[in-house]
Amino acid sequence: MILEQFKLDGRVALVTGANTGLGQAIAIALAQAGADIVAFGRSAPDETVAVVKASGRSCRWVEGSLDAGAALSTAMDSAVAAFGKLDILVNNAGTIRRNAAVDFSEEDWDAVMDVNLKSAFFLSQAFARHLLATHRPGKIINIASMLSFQGGIRVASYTASKSGLLGLTRLLANEWAAHRINVNAIAPGYFATNNTTALRADEQRNRDILARIPAGHWGQPEELGGAAVFLASAASNYMHGSVVAVDGGWLAR
Ligand code: NAP
Repeated sequence: MILEQFKLDGRVALVTGANTGLGQAIAIALAQAGADIVAFGRSAPDETVAVVKASGRSCRWVEGSLDAGAALSTAMDSAVAAFGKLDILVNNAGTIRRNAAVDFSEEDWDAVMDVNLKSAFFLSQAFARHLLATHRPGKIINIASMLSFQGGIRVASYTASKSGLLGLTRLLANEWAAHRINVNAIAPGYFATNNTTALRADEQRNRDILARIPAGHWGQPEELGGAAVFLASAASNYMHGSVVAVDGGWLAR
């Protein structure tokens, strides 16, 4: 039966940045579909743990940073140890720095590239090594952006990182599809989270953005859950290197 393919019973998903925003919504959606959750990040995901538990699944926090120099293979070992295996990796954690390109600092460049792109690659590498060593299939979902397709403004390192993440999604899909590891991306449009607080607080920017979204409203984090469950499940087993835009129609405009 087709709906059976969407179920995640018995799977374990590692979600980075699951304490808040899109990562929290994704973790909760995966848990509601049947997965146990490893919440990897630097802030305690208390609310996520409580909601996941209420849905009948388990959620364990593996504390760690995704900054430069973070020992991501050690972090992956801790994540695997939490439930004895991993089946799904969601590279969700991300950060943003805003400044004009002429004034953009190296620090703002490195900070964003390290979290959004470098850590996503090395966590994916550690995850793939775990799967290959145990001869098991798996799913990687990278959280891309509208700025994987568009240039944006005043966010040089963010655009570079999210454009790079989409390229990386395709490269890893090419290398790992034959090993039954699906690597795909979700490109969220404009969602109401901490990441977009500054945009929503700027009346003019807020008005301009809303006027361009065919759906007419900022995305709510829960609206991303269905795409995440789909890409984490057997229903998407023949999808490799794809990107699913969940954007209220932004890219169609
Ligand atoms: P958010 O609420 O700001 O959450 C960002 C998450 O990333 C938090 O859990 C944060 O942890 C974590 N994080 C940041 N830097 C980290 C580091 N150095 N080490 C470990 N964790 C770190 O933003 P969000 O909107 O949910 O963003 C989630 C993802 O979606 C990001 O990749 C973002 O680029 C992407 N995205 C968002 C939108 C949108 O409209 N909101 C659109 C497109 C793409 P702390 O809480 O500890 O800081």
